[in-house]
Amino acid sequence: MIKVAINGYGTIGKRVADAVAAQPDMQLVGVSKTRPSHEAYIAKFRGYPLYIADMAKKDAFEKAGIPVAGSVEDMLNAADIVVDATPGGVGAKNRPLYEKLGIKAIWQGGEDHEVAGFSFNSDCNYREAIGRPFTRVVSCNTTGLCRIIKAMDNEYGVEKVRAVMVRRGGDPGDIKRGPIDAVVLNPVTIPSHHGPDVQTVLPHINIVTLAMIVPVTMMHMHVVQMDLKKEGSRERVLEIIEKHPRMGLVRKSTGITSTAELKEYAMDLGRCRSDLWENGIFEESVSVLGRDLYLFQAIHQEADVVVENIDAIRAMMGTVTDPARSIEITNDALNFVPI
Ligand code: NAD
Repeated sequence: MIKVAINGYGTIGKRVADAVAAQPDMQLVGVSKTRPSHEAYIAKFRGYPLYIADMAKKDAFEKAGIPVAGSVEDMLNAADIVVDATPGGVGAKNRPLYEKLGIKAIWQGGEDHEVAGFSFNSDCNYREAIGRPFTRVVSCNTTGLCRIIKAMDNEYGVEKVRAVMVRRGGDPGDIKRGPIDAVVLNPVTIPSHHGPDVQTVLPHINIVTLAMIVPVTMMHMHVVQMDLKKEGSRERVLEIIEKHPRMGLVRKSTGITSTAELKEYAMDLGRCRSDLWENGIFEESVSVLGRDLYLFQAIHQEADVVVENIDAIRAMMGTVTDPARSIEITNDALNFVPI
């Protein structure tokens, strides 16, 4: 069993913790919090040992009825690998601690590529992650882009990608972020940072991205256009998406034309937290005009990177060397009912 610690039990950390606990080859040794909160109560409710960043706050946790298993350092000493899901920028500050303790570490997309010197996506570079001490799982948007670009590059070769990201303003539980009533160009300059981030995983891809933030919380929506190196066919593109373990077709017959209906559908399917781990690609939007491919894809920002973290753990520990096998184990453990 691979012993996994989760440092930072928030939006991403709590999902990765549940996904680790569901895997047949992994054991969750604990999760960490900085102060008592509703998430700390959930860790207790789930029976996850809770470790804290600052032992001076132990009394505050215990007064709130939340038992403390020890310090973050104690948690790391009990683990083979840590998933750092602390807020962007905090994770990089934890690197010296991980180095000192000699523990393997995975960071999230809020950190720069340099934090690990290697950026990961299961479809694109799983084998290159085998045995590595440090890895960064790319952001939710980059993960969604990498999946579809890699699949099309394998089939046709990709000459150029242009993508517009319509980004959610904050996560559903995040009361501090906005905008409340605006479309914010983020950044106003073109290109956005997402293209270079894709190139940390797929360096040969020519890509230009543009991004804006809108007042929604459920998902991002991508408008993707690719120049293919060979003429494609819509039927073949749909077939590739349909067979892909991390991409799903939002079928015309469902009548779904929005992120809201898609999230409701995932909830009704019984998905844990109504999470959509795969790209939600709208069937009707998939258009192939000669060498031009167009599509809309919905990306559930809280969920798509979770399954990537699980595969990254297996790759770095070297226990499964075939990416397809790891993806299968991860998906099966989560009851990945197709959309
Ligand atoms: P979050 O704020 O929801 O959760 C972070 C957690 O870390 C909080 O529970 C906080 O209490 C805890 N924390 C803060 N400082 C800590 C410390 N020093 N030690 C231990 N715990 C600490 O953040 P999030 O949205 O889960 O983001 C985490 C990372 O994942 C970031 O790099 C972010 O960019 C990335 N990411 C977020 C999303 C998303 O949509 N939320 C998507 C993809 C990637």
